Amino acid sequence: MNKVILITGAARGIGRDIAETLAKNPDNIIIANYNKSEEQAKEMQLKLKKENINIEIIKADVSKRDEVKKMIEEVLNKYKKIDVLINNAGISQYKLFNDITDDDWDNIININLKSAFIVSQEVVRNMIQNKSGCIINISSIWGVIGASMEVAYSTSKAGVIGLTKSLAKELGPSNIRVNAIAPGIIDTGMNARFSEDEINSIKEEIPLEKIGKTADVTRCVQWLINDEYTTGQVISINGGWDI
Ligand code: NAP
Repeated sequence: MNKVILITGAARGIGRDIAETLAKNPDNIIIANYNKSEEQAKEMQLKLKKENINIEIIKADVSKRDEVKKMIEEVLNKYKKIDVLINNAGISQYKLFNDITDDDWDNIININLKSAFIVSQEVVRNMIQNKSGCIINISSIWGVIGASMEVAYSTSKAGVIGLTKSLAKELGPSNIRVNAIAPGIIDTGMNARFSEDEINSIKEEIPLEKIGKTADVTRCVQWLINDEYTTGQVISINGGWDI
């Protein structure tokens, strides 16, 4: 049976790897959301097309209810269902606590946390009707243990964990599983600000002595999609950085 899978923020980084990898399974129908990276989304679609793989790309700022509503309506009109939602879109910010403005705070919370609330709410109505669903929220190691200079980001990602656990309890009876992945440091544009020396000293703190790859997160996503008895969990993919 086909699985309709929506991934937010899927034109770049972790979301893109998830989209491209899952698209290789012909049973999956991939809906790749993007906001600013239209060019990269189109380039990904074309690249896959050359391999005879079709994916849908769809624009929406996931922090905005009206845009999300329109996106979900469009998907449901065409495919009638959404089986898997991956709330991946996110931004980070590195600032001293005292320098964080109200706008910084609102922006991070809206894009990283409110988006997961809005998109999940719009999708869950359909999942409840179908008595089936899988939601995977991409949190962060910093949502678990907190990060200096990333208070707003860590707070948003801790919020994602709260959303995951409470939603898992509420939606369990409807056969909808809700889990979070908390990656450590993964090699994407989000970490472009680090110098080589900084990356090397981060590696020294990680028991597996390496930076994660997007594929490390994708493998966990694949496992969670296929699993049937895991819900409300936060899975740490971080090379042992938090032990
Ligand atoms: P990335 O390469 O910077 O990509 C971020 C993605 O989020 C982009 O696809 C971007 O889409 C999307 N996005 C941002 N604002 C959006 C909005 N308003 N609406 C829709 N999409 C939006 O970062 P990444 O490393 O892949 O991060 C993906 C997720 O993993 C994030 O939630 C991040 O917090 C989390 N994470 C990353 C790491 C890491 O080390 N990389 C570690 C832990 C957790 P557009 O470009 O189209 O706007």
